[in-house]
Amino acid sequence: MKPNHPTVALKPGRERSLLRRHPWVFSGAIGNLSKEPKPGETVCVRTAEGAFLGWGAYSPDSQIRVRMWSFNESDEITEDWITRQVQNAVARRISMHIPVHDNSFRLIHSESDFLPGVIADQFGSTVVVQILTAGAEYWRNTIYSALQKSSKCTCLIEKSDTEARKQEGLISREEVIIGDESGSKVIVVENGIKYRVQILGGQKTGFYLDQRVNRLLVQEYSKGKRVLDCFSFQGGFALNALKAGAVSVVAVDSSETALKAIRTNVEENQLDSGAITLVEANAFEYLRLLRDQKEQFDLIILDPPKLAATQSKVERALRAYKDLNLSACKLLAPGGILFTFSCSGGVTPELFQSVVAGAALDAGRNLQFIQTMRQGPDHPVLSTFPESEYLKGLVCLAVN
Ligand code: SAH
Repeated sequence: MKPNHPTVALKPGRERSLLRRHPWVFSGAIGNLSKEPKPGETVCVRTAEGAFLGWGAYSPDSQIRVRMWSFNESDEITEDWITRQVQNAVARRISMHIPVHDNSFRLIHSESDFLPGVIADQFGSTVVVQILTAGAEYWRNTIYSALQKSSKCTCLIEKSDTEARKQEGLISREEVIIGDESGSKVIVVENGIKYRVQILGGQKTGFYLDQRVNRLLVQEYSKGKRVLDCFSFQGGFALNALKAGAVSVVAVDSSETALKAIRTNVEENQLDSGAITLVEANAFEYLRLLRDQKEQFDLIILDPPKLAATQSKVERALRAYKDLNLSACKLLAPGGILFTFSCSGGVTPELFQSVVAGAALDAGRNLQFIQTMRQGPDHPVLSTFPESEYLKGLVCLAVN
């Protein structure tokens, strides 16, 4: 017999997005509750008239009050069901063409893998998981053991230290769940390059796997070029440029730890350490300094952190993107190439392109957009959930 889940009845006419299988129910759409659900408890979502819409997880502290697990009435959200979702997500990676020599990729991409609030990245034999919503928290032990079984990892680390958890009323958590702390030191192999990465204490899940294909693209543009990599972190783009034969690479980041990691990684990969200059600076200011010095580069990469964390911060973020791209346009040699990115979900590809266009205009440069970029295939975008397309990038050619 099915357990008796609390029912969430929507206000009249508020079922449209759920009928289109969008996985979120905002608090304002909710009419009434049959009883107050516990945080993360499974609820049955129905129209005002009582028709079945789906099963979801209840988040009492979030504006996104319910995140949907399933739109099938016959599904039962149990340990077995959650385990199957994890197994299926991991199995789908085979179809995502991850290069055979790469040992690191995303295993679970939250809503887009039908597991709202669950992010999991594999780094060799270590898996790092983020549990970001009340629903994911409710099932976390099931998720841990399903991940261990389907990835065969020897170390599982939870690293849920993000703002998102606060909005869900959850405390941050960073701990080794399976294995010991030695699993926190990993060697990421990507595009034929090795990176020594320390998971505990590092940024996000440890390494930004979403840029893999775009880093490879940088290799194609780097031979014989003077390269500037802004917001370089552990050198994802800088190392790909060096490997492909850039004559010089300047890597800029505000984090001393990140720059030290680049130095180690250059040696680890036996790349030319004399060709790379590491600069610890605020990239916004450093770009202006380079402009004042009338420096020029053949290839510039701009990969800033998320500048608009929420919709309300988009306006300000657009000014910051414009500032960065304006400086970059001024620093490009004629015929130079700009790789420019935004990982802010609230900034659409169209909006981002118009900001870069505005920056080029103000810089007095003619830019041609020659390629578009996005997050790698192991970070899929579910067709009913376009919000999960967060990373967008443009390859631009400076005509004059
Ligand atoms: N390009 C990197 C990822 C960039 S993540 C890669 O391929 O892996 C964003 C980086 O920006 C972080 O390393 C962070 O330390 C750095 N950062 C944040 N604000 C900055 C600023 N104002 N100036 C320079 N670096 C900054």
